[in-house]
Amino acid sequence: MKRIAVLTSGGDAPGMNAAIRSIVRTAIFHRLEVIGVKRGYCGLIEGDYAKMNLGSVSDVIHRGGTILGTARCRDFFNEEGRQTALLKMRQARIEGLIAIGGDGTFNGAAKLDNSGMPVIAVPGTIDNDIACTDRTIGFDTVINTVLDAINKIRDTATSHERIFVIEVMGRNSGAIALAAGLAGGAESILIPEIPLNLEQVVSNIKRGIARGKRHSIIVLAEGLANSLDITKQIEAMAQLETRLTILGYLQRGGTPTAQDRILASRMGAEAVYMLLRGERNKMVASKGDMITSVDIECALLQKKELNFQDYKLAGILSR
Ligand code: ATP
Repeated sequence: MKRIAVLTSGGDAPGMNAAIRSIVRTAIFHRLEVIGVKRGYCGLIEGDYAKMNLGSVSDVIHRGGTILGTARCRDFFNEEGRQTALLKMRQARIEGLIAIGGDGTFNGAAKLDNSGMPVIAVPGTIDNDIACTDRTIGFDTVINTVLDAINKIRDTATSHERIFVIEVMGRNSGAIALAAGLAGGAESILIPEIPLNLEQVVSNIKRGIARGKRHSIIVLAEGLANSLDITKQIEAMAQLETRLTILGYLQRGGTPTAQDRILASRMGAEAVYMLLRGERNKMVASKGDMITSVDIECALLQKKELNFQDYKLAGILSR
């Protein structure tokens, strides 16, 4: 193998740049040429390629977003689009691809691999919703961003003795809400994986007030339900002023944490080694402190389990 390509696809996540840097520098160290593909699968189809060198990834390890750009590309859902991408890659003498992104990106990667191009997938999504890996790149940073917001909102919640509902990202997964809620000492964590019980939420609030608590923070995952409706229902049931804060897109960006930079550096390097070993249709995964290789199928066919122990623990500790 002489020449490989790298792209980022789907939602951007902090640490993607650290992964690109690691891929480029590991590959060049092992005498491979690296092509950077712009705007995910759209750039792959259009042949929007640029050769990368050691300097291409200078000064990016601390930057959020992705220097290659990313996209959600409709044409890649079609066989025709993927065949065009394959042709363009062959014309550019690319022999393997590393695709950094979430489960949608992995679906596309698996199809491209089945059409004849070796592909290694790297889990890069803030949602941590990919099965067969403990962590995805970007998750640690988003938890810390949400935590920072919880700390600030808690000051106001305590001063005004108000209830605050904080909506966080995560699509259909409650992983961000659970981790940030546990770390932030939230009174209640509302996630799609657990049936909604507003009587329990209100009883938590009342119990807290009875023992002298001056604040109540409820972390709610975006995938659960309409957060404004839930906020209004809590206000009506508790008969206490309740405010909603939707954190939105500020959760996506920002400088990656040390953990995300280390994870991205390790995963990026491993993806290159996997291609060099002749592996294909695989995903780089983290298991504890180890980086391993698993079939992409594992991530595509299984649903990531929520950490129910953490959910129970958060309930006990917030009393
Ligand atoms: P995130 O979890 O951060 O949103 P993602 O990788 O899941 O990231 P998607 O928008 O779902 O983001 O997917 C990214 C791109 O991957 C799509 O725009 C499309 O080009 C490609 N893709 C997704 N699903 C498929 C599929 N079933 N077949 C072919 N290509 C796909």
